[in-house]
Amino acid sequence: MEFELIERLKSALPHDSQLPLGIGDDCAILAEDARSEQLVTTDMLLDGIHFIYDTDKENAQSLELIARKSIAVSLSDIAAMGGKPQTAFLSLAIPRSWDADQANELFDSFAKAAREFQITLAGGDTTSWNHLLAINVTVVGKVPKSKAIRRSGAQAGDFICVSGPLGGSLSGKHLTFTPRVQQGQWLREHCTIHAMIDISDGLLADLGHILQQSEVGAEIVAEQIPISKQADEISDNKSPLEHALTDGEDFELLWTMSKSEYEKLMQQKEGFIEVHHIGNITKEKGCFLVDQQGHKKRRGDEGYVHQLGEEESLL
Ligand code: ADP
Ligand code: MG
Repeated sequence: MEFELIERLKSALPHDSQLPLGIGDDCAILAEDARSEQLVTTDMLLDGIHFIYDTDKENAQSLELIARKSIAVSLSDIAAMGGKPQTAFLSLAIPRSWDADQANELFDSFAKAAREFQITLAGGDTTSWNHLLAINVTVVGKVPKSKAIRRSGAQAGDFICVSGPLGGSLSGKHLTFTPRVQQGQWLREHCTIHAMIDISDGLLADLGHILQQSEVGAEIVAEQIPISKQADEISDNKSPLEHALTDGEDFELLWTMSKSEYEKLMQQKEGFIEVHHIGNITKEKGCFLVDQQGHKKRRGDEGYVHQLGEEESLL
């Protein structure tokens, strides 16, 4: 649903030749000078959907974790373009029921998160209302000229890689993850990466964005997909592999590169770079999963998509 709405908006807008990259990637590229391009990304986080603060709920989370996550999700988008984050803008809708201590704690938490991630806060907006906490963070970053890694560059024969284990992030990682900013920049500096995205909607859904924008297909191999300990420990009607394929909010990087670049990467990578080769890009469209028995099955881009008109939440 949300992707159709975004496409609808995009097709209703005139092409802007002044805008290097508009709607459709992890960040927009707003401006460029002789040396660099400016990246901008924005994300909205809502109490009850992306976090739980409402103190009536037993699994409520601290404002410190909530503020940190709110910045980290945008940093993950900067990482996905191979960029360096610089500055953030912070807009808040604070519940009228809050007292001054709560508001102070929220602002202190944002200051702390900005220090942790070494970015400055350059502005924002503060308002209050009779609803739960809502947070919007916009992050500005930069990348050397013409070096931003887009979703659209995947080529047939490329190796598909992820930066860490997947699935089960709702057991905690979605609040505590470290955005792969260092890894994204390292990969951009040391390798030729054809396409990259961060996994926010789920492996299949986000791989689907790369495939669609690059006009290619993929074959991924179940046995090669790194499954997180958290996904292994969930006991519901989905297998750990299904969790790894479809759970949202992993915030690992997903990228494609030629086989020879992959081999070079494996020789020279530093300790903080984790690489899992999970399959290959194909000329034929469609995404196929090779299961443990060697059977090939077509998989859609199912993952976490915000639905309208349905009672649903991430948590
Ligand atoms: P991500 O998961 O990387 O944050 P999204 O799936 O949220 O990306 O968005 C995909 C693309 O659509 C991005 O380029 C984003 O800026 C754009 N987009 C999302 N919502 C809107 C909107 N309401 N208006 C304009 N562009 C939007
Ligand atoms: Mg993204």
